[in-house]
Order: sequence, then C-alpha cells, then structure tokens
Amino acid sequence: MKWEAVIGLEVHVQLLTRSKIFSAASTAYGAAPNTQACAVDIALPGVLPVMNEEAARMAVKLGLAVNAEINQRSVFARKNYFYPDLPKGYQISQYELPIVGQGYLTIETGEGEKRIGITRAHLEEDAGKSLHEDFHGMTGIDLNRAGTPLIEIVSEPDMRSSQEAVAYLKQLHTLVRYLDICDGNMQEGSFRCDANVSVRPAGQEEFGTRTELKNINSFRFIERAIEYEIERQIDLLEDGGEVVQETRLYDPEKNETRPMRTKEEAHDYRYFPDPDLPPMEFDDEFIEAVRRSLPELPEAKRRRFMDRYALSADDALQLTAEKELADYFEAAAEVTSGDAKTVANWILGELSGYLNKENKTITESSVSAAQLARLIDRIHDNTISGKIAKEVFEAMWRGEGDADGIIDSKGLKQITDSGAIEDIVEEVLARSAQQIEQYQSGQTKVFGYFVGQVMKATGGKANPQQVNEILRRKLGAG
Ligand code: ADP
Ligand code: MG
Repeated sequence: MKWEAVIGLEVHVQLLTRSKIFSAASTAYGAAPNTQACAVDIALPGVLPVMNEEAARMAVKLGLAVNAEINQRSVFARKNYFYPDLPKGYQISQYELPIVGQGYLTIETGEGEKRIGITRAHLEEDAGKSLHEDFHGMTGIDLNRAGTPLIEIVSEPDMRSSQEAVAYLKQLHTLVRYLDICDGNMQEGSFRCDANVSVRPAGQEEFGTRTELKNINSFRFIERAIEYEIERQIDLLEDGGEVVQETRLYDPEKNETRPMRTKEEAHDYRYFPDPDLPPMEFDDEFIEAVRRSLPELPEAKRRRFMDRYALSADDALQLTAEKELADYFEAAAEVTSGDAKTVANWILGELSGYLNKENKTITESSVSAAQLARLIDRIHDNTISGKIAKEVFEAMWRGEGDADGIIDSKGLKQITDSGAIEDIVEEVLARSAQQIEQYQSGQTKVFGYFVGQVMKATGGKANPQQVNEILRRKLGAG
C-alpha cells in the first residue's frame, strides 16, 4: 500500500526580553543555578504576576509576520500539572483566547511554493530545568528558566514529508531572527520543536492516529526523527498493528523514537483563566505601531532577490536565511560591475566554505562585501580568471589586502595579449604531434589537453576564452 505522512509542528520560541514574562528577574542564559528565579517565578504565596509589555509586542510582531489575526483581547490560563521543574504546580499559558489566531507561512518545496497553515500562537512561561547529568542517582533542579517568556506556534497538520517539516521550521527560525524576537539558539533551547506525526493510506481523507515527538534540538535530528517515526508507523500498520497516541522521545544516538508517556488530553490540565492576571487588551494603534516597526520579511526579501537580481529560488532562499547574509549579498551585488549571480555563487560557495571551516558567521568574515565586489570586478573586466580569483580570495582571507594589491604583488594579472597567447599555443602544438593526430581523427576530447597545457605554461594566467578561440583556429574549427 502507498502511505502518506501527515505532520504538524509545535514550536516553542524563547523571546528575547531582558526580564521574565511576569517578573523583573533576568532572562540571561548561563547564570549559576537558581540565582535568577524570583518569588513570582516560583509563585510564592502573596506575590502577583505582572505582564511584560515587551513580550506582548514581540508576540504581535510574530503574529503580523505570519499573516495572522491578532486577538485584541486575549486571556491567560493556568495549565495545571506537577513536575519537579514546575514547583508552582501550574504553568501560566493561554488556552481559549490566544494572542495570535490563524495565519500561515509560505515554504519552498522541490515543487514550488506551499502554504503551511498556522493554527494559533500563544504566550506562556517556560518551566525550570531538570539536570540529570551531574547528580549521580539524583536530579538537580535549576529554576533560572522558570518564567522566561515563550511563544508557542502551533501549525496545521499541513506538512507531508520530513523535508517539508524542516523547510517550515527553517523558515520560522529565519523569521524570528529577522524580527529580533529570539536568538534562535537551538543548543541552548531558545528554539524548540515538537513534531506530531501520523500516516494514512494515500488518498484517504481522514487522518491517522498521531504520535508526538518531543524537544528535538537540531534540524538534522528533526528530519531523522520524523523519518524514523513515519517508517515505524507504516511497519506497524502493515503488520496489522495500531498506532498508539502517545508522546515519544527521539534518541539521536540510536536514531530511534521510544515511548515516553501516553498522551494527555486538554482536560487533564484543568485549564482555567488565571485569576491573578487581567485579560490583555490592545487597541488598533498598538498593533499599527508594531506593524510599522516590522523589517522587510524573509519571504518578501526572497521574492525581491529573485526579481531584482534574477536569482534562482534556491539561491534566494539560502541568501535570505539570515538577514546579515542577505545584507552582505546586497552590499556586494549593488557595487560590483559583475553580475549578481556571480556574487551569489561566491558567497554560497567559496566564502561559505571559509566561514564554515573557521566556524564563523558572516559578520565575522575576514573579507568584506566591498572587497568581494572588487574581486568580482576583476573577474568581470578580465584582469583575472575565476580560477586565479580563488587564489586571490585566499590571500584576501588571510588579510593580505585588497584584490588589486594582491594581483599586482603576486603577478597574477591575466595574459590577454593575444600575440603572447598565440606564441604559447604554438609551443604547445609543436610538441603535441600525437594529440593533434588524435584530435584530427575525431577524438575532440583531447581539446581539453591542449587547453590544460597552455594554462600550465602560463601558470593559469592565460585568458581561458582567448586560449579556446586561438586553439580552435589553429586546429581548424573543431
Ligand atoms: P495537543 O495540544 O494535544 O498537542 P493539538 O490538537 O493542539 O493537540 O495539535 C497539536 C499539533 O498536532 C498541531 O500542530 C496539529 O497540526 C498536529 N496534529 C493534529 N492531528 C494530527 C495528525 N493526525 N497527524 C499529524 N499531526 C497532527
Ligand atoms: Mg502538543
């Protein structure tokens, strides 16, 4: 039987406010355990939470950016459960009236664009952390994270493959960083994802029973966890079994998912409106002010890059993944006399390679956008070939100066004097009787041999186009 996967994601985004969602305690990461949880964060008797306006503004920003309705009146609710890292016995979240209603994001798939629905996004507080590693036979509790503002973004079950799920997640990850509402650090848990996965026979309308995969902390693991879970469910159903609705944990070392607990239902949480917090209300003006503060969003930038710079969808997607990368590209593309496609290739190829090798981000690049633009100018005006340009780039990366200086001092200027190239071609042909014979008997592949010899004789500096032309002429059009 042919099966179809159905995937919906719940993403928890830690908001970049300086203080907690309902208290003045700091949200900074990495402090000594339990030094940043105040009485409000752990709900000691007699304290009252106060809503952090900045967190609301960030939630509205996100809502507008995913084309969603903003609920001008939203309500905080208590979600009741017990866990050691939640000593207050309930989490303040939103249930019936979340701050952000229905919206969508557009992703790039292999077959073009696809809209992924967003069901809702609500504000809530994070819990503390249970630490298992450093305490033999015991569990440590660090409550620093308690009360850190989160926005949980719930998608519709609109994704049909692990690739689509990752594309959606990356798009969201890009978006929250453009909006400057989250640092996106997945290792530190600032951006976390639960994946809901089910399968159904292809063509069937009704959804299958889903499982929920918890807190997977990298794009690669999410893709693998979903793949594994799809296979597991298909195997189970094909063997006549049934999928149990449950929460499962992904183990990256074994590359498998295993049951963690049976799925709780909403009524298990005994949600009720938090009596300590009044409903949140905004007027149109607040929303319009947030709208005006929005930067150009990744999707709009992607489209603009495709239109203005004639880039492919894939190049545009990669270049707009981070705002700083997009800025770098534009800064170079706007000043070079070469074409934007060449700029894109250099950034996504050579430059990205160097950055990756040294584990640097684009803002730490040793070569500036202006410097790269001048290097590309020199390719464009035939001062150097693309191949020599890589040598120049390497020297630029090492801090040896600008393209022009390096080309001069290393004598890398391309030989474009056709007389000079012709002399070298003659030399090469004079000692290649055998290859000439092969060529003339129809083995046109040896043409590459002649080009190679000429390039070798000139240290790679002959203009490749001229070499080709002259060779063709001398050998009698091939
Ligand atoms: P809960 O709050 O219990 O996790 P929700 O109904 O809010 O349940 O759904 C959570 C997520 O599960 C949503 O992202 C939704 O798209 C997804 N989902 C719901 N049903 C399915 C299904 N049959 N297969 C895959 N995903 C699903
Ligand atoms: Mg859930």
